[in-house]
Amino acid sequence: MRNRLVKEHLELLLPIFGDLCAQIKSRDADIYDLKNFLASSDDALLKAKVWTLERENATLRAKLDLNEDVTSAIKDLLPKIDDLKLNNSQTLREELPTIIKQATCPDIRSSLEIVNKEIITEVKKNRDETRSFAQVAYKSKDLLQGAPLSLRPSAPTEPEGVLLIKPKSELLKDHDENRKTFLNILREKNPEIRLRSVGKIFGGGLKIVASTEEDVSFIRNVFTDHGDRDLLENFDLIIPNKRFPQLILYNVDKDVKLETLQTGLLAKNIFLANSMNKPHFKIEFSIPAKDRSKNHWVLSINPKKFEEIKEKAGLYFEFTRLRTSEFISVRQCRKCFAFGHTTKKCDPKTKQRCDKCGDVKEERHRCRGFRCLNCVEANRKYRKNFGTSHSCLDFNCRSLIRQKELIMDRTDYGL
Ligand SMILES: [Zn+2]
Ligand SMILES: [Zn+2]
Ligand SMILES: [Zn+2]
Repeated sequence: MRNRLVKEHLELLLPIFGDLCAQIKSRDADIYDLKNFLASSDDALLKAKVWTLERENATLRAKLDLNEDVTSAIKDLLPKIDDLKLNNSQTLREELPTIIKQATCPDIRSSLEIVNKEIITEVKKNRDETRSFAQVAYKSKDLLQGAPLSLRPSAPTEPEGVLLIKPKSELLKDHDENRKTFLNILREKNPEIRLRSVGKIFGGGLKIVASTEEDVSFIRNVFTDHGDRDLLENFDLIIPNKRFPQLILYNVDKDVKLETLQTGLLAKNIFLANSMNKPHFKIEFSIPAKDRSKNHWVLSINPKKFEEIKEKAGLYFEFTRLRTSEFISVRQCRKCFAFGHTTKKCDPKTKQRCDKCGDVKEERHRCRGFRCLNCVEANRKYRKNFGTSHSCLDFNCRSLIRQKELIMDRTDYGL
């Protein structure tokens, strides 16, 4: 019975068991393999994670560096803020926006400089195509009589020629009188002459602006040919030279003297001199930096070398590299906020204005909010359409930008 049972039933079942056992073994092997695989894939996962974290770390570090840049800029500003705090909190509140702007300004400024440069190149291109009135005037000299002198407001970026008429004596500082004398000569002798503007300069003199240098030298000739001797002896007629382009060299140690700086710069920057070792630059003056242990220095640069030197954006001195950028300083009075003169030179009768609203700032001044005097004036005088709701000291003031353009226009970039 048992034998039959085994023979008939188990004999059939045994291979099945055998089969199942083999399958279980192979499952076990698979599990073992999978376990190993899992273990190693954990590793891969971790590695990936570490890699991602490392990348994140690098990004954060880069951000941190950026912040550090800002921090150091803020550090630069701190002494100035301390100064102001000592004075009083009112000025602090007023000046803070300006200070912050100064910190963020270099970028804006440098892009402005690039734009300005492009405008000038464009203008210079056009200049050659425009006929100056001197060329016209020589031909039509005797044709016209008695026509009024024409004065037309000029676009700020057009080229211009300037003639300065300066009285040599204190007795001749009546501007209106001088203006009449000189303009009468032009009116009588060359009424067709076109002037852009006749302005007042310090000491009662005149500033005559025409469209080209050729034009102003023509005007000067009219005066020297037709003015009487007394007049010519009492006035200087000056056509100012074009200004050299300038760079500002930031944060030189205060105890470095001009001569040391000169030789130091020449020693470390081979491009600053020609093959005969004649320098392409002249050190002009220093101005105190925000960091009290430093000075900034202003250098005039040979126009032909300016682009090349400016592009380097820095100069080596001793064991450091000092940052440079183009220097264009606009004179602006802190009393009346007009351009072209300093506070010291302002008319003593002028009252202190408010830099925000432009009104006279008397003791209990009630500020009317932002209104830029210079932009209001430009809109009136030159029919501009400048926005006016900003401070007279705003770095983005269109009138300020116009002043910079005028300076750049008077600069010889060697083009
Ligand atoms: Zn002033
Ligand atoms: Zn005000
Ligand atoms: Zn303005």
